Amino acid sequence: MIRSRQGKRLSLVTPMHDEAPALDAFFARVDAAAAGLGVELEIVCVDDGSRDDTYERLAARAAADPRIRLIGLSRNFGKEAALTAGLDAASGDMVVPIDADLQDPPELIAEFLALWEQGYDVVYGVRADRASDSAAKRVTAGAFYRVFNLVSDHPIPASAGDFRLMDRQVVEALKRLPERNRFMKGLFAWVGFRQVGVPYVRPPRSAGTSSWGWLKLWRFAVDGITAFTTAPLRVWSVVGVLAALAAILFGLVIIVRVLVIGRDVPGYASLMVVLLFGFALQMIALGVLGEYVGRMYEEVKRRPIYMVRRKAGFGDEPGFGDK
Ligand code: UDP
Ligand code: MG
Repeated sequence: MIRSRQGKRLSLVTPMHDEAPALDAFFARVDAAAAGLGVELEIVCVDDGSRDDTYERLAARAAADPRIRLIGLSRNFGKEAALTAGLDAASGDMVVPIDADLQDPPELIAEFLALWEQGYDVVYGVRADRASDSAAKRVTAGAFYRVFNLVSDHPIPASAGDFRLMDRQVVEALKRLPERNRFMKGLFAWVGFRQVGVPYVRPPRSAGTSSWGWLKLWRFAVDGITAFTTAPLRVWSVVGVLAALAAILFGLVIIVRVLVIGRDVPGYASLMVVLLFGFALQMIALGVLGEYVGRMYEEVKRRPIYMVRRKAGFGDEPGFGDK
């Protein structure tokens, strides 16, 4: 044992979007799992612009439970931004981002803690099977990890989510990454430190529905790839050179043919093919440029990653403590 949990504080960070139906089960499981951990607990809940009464319910809990800190964002900023808000507010010696829908089993934290004591700075959960996902999601997720790790300089472990235990040092490192585009899986990998994975079975959602549609997942994937590699931008110079070589070869063939066989007017088909193909390539290249330029624009605006509208449980709000 290199470190000891004695007298240490652990922060759970939970982004919540329309999670009112899942709250009771969440806190019941967390309480049960935390009872034997032997650390002081802090639960940072970030209400990510819920349309239901998630915030009000959490505020009622926070008033009765001093472990709960509550941040209400001014609108829905997305899970990654909500998580960033939570990490900024968390004060623990270790921080564990955990979903509100109990898909990240809180019982696993005991195992995380034991590995942290052995000297690992990051202990992340790895989904042993994706049985709770649809076949389509499994296939697309698998393809995403393959593509990402092929093109990125900082590979991310397949099937590792945000559920993990991080040492304070790692959280501070994450906080120093200034980008607006918070592709957390990539940022977690980028910061480095001693990391280890723990396999677990991810159950289906406890209640409510997932807020991730296909469009959101696609944007998430493109966000991730563009944030961690410029390969899609650079590949076009290679494609361009190859296309130019092919064009030169084809040109030579035509010239020789004209010299040897004579002029030959038919050729509409080949002309159209080359034209349309070249056109399509240019469009794709432009599109890729657009993806990057758009994100650069987002970054240079330097807007905050999230906006806080209200807070509770931090001890600095009016009326706190004079109950
Ligand atoms: N979440 C959030 N903002 C969003 C979408 C989701 O804070 O815009 C939270 C959600 O409340 C949950 C976690 O992120 O605690 C994971 O979301 P979800 O279960 O919908 O995703 P999935 O498990 O399907 O990946
Ligand atoms: Mg979920």
